[in-house]
Amino acid sequence: MKELDAIKSEVLSCQKCALCQHRHTVVFGEGCSSSSLMCIGEGPGYYEDMAGRPFVGASGQLLDKILDVCGFSRQRNVFIANIVKCRPPGNRAPLPEERAQCLPYLLQQIEIINPRILVLLGATALQGLIDSEARITRLRGRWLEWNGRWVMPTYHPSALLRTPELKRDAWEDFKKVIDKYREVVDANHFSAYH
Ligand code: SF4
Repeated sequence: MKELDAIKSEVLSCQKCALCQHRHTVVFGEGCSSSSLMCIGEGPGYYEDMAGRPFVGASGQLLDKILDVCGFSRQRNVFIANIVKCRPPGNRAPLPEERAQCLPYLLQQIEIINPRILVLLGATALQGLIDSEARITRLRGRWLEWNGRWVMPTYHPSALLRTPELKRDAWEDFKKVIDKYREVVDANHFSAYH
């Protein structure tokens, strides 16, 4: 898609915040550019920085598994991006000023891809996009409305790897995403597990 490619070429050479100094690669995001579903995480980690692709490490593999059981995939119907597009050193959370510098790119991506549903993976995504004071433990599993889109905050896959007991809650959240997708995008959407 031309508009998305235009932003991508701008982002790939971006030096608007200090994160550009340590990155190996800018991670623009990937997936189907006409997706009705978009997943948004925090920022690239080591493997993502090396590969230039979002969610390719252990947490990415878990995310792909979750999406797969829900009937979603990057190839067909999901776009995956992050709040910041360059890896914070040592995998720390991006600072507010870094998030603020990078956010316009994400907003443009959302505008162009035009998803009906956003899944926010973890506190940084929730705070970066919706409310800097919001807490993921309080808002996860609840539908929010934002700029005419449905938003489901849930745990970041890395939290699920650290604390497997959270997987049950995360699955409940993703079941709601499947239901909403059937309601507003495709009534015949298939998931083998829900
Ligand atoms: S994190 Fe975003 S704003 Fe900062 S340098 Fe990378 S692309 Fe630019």
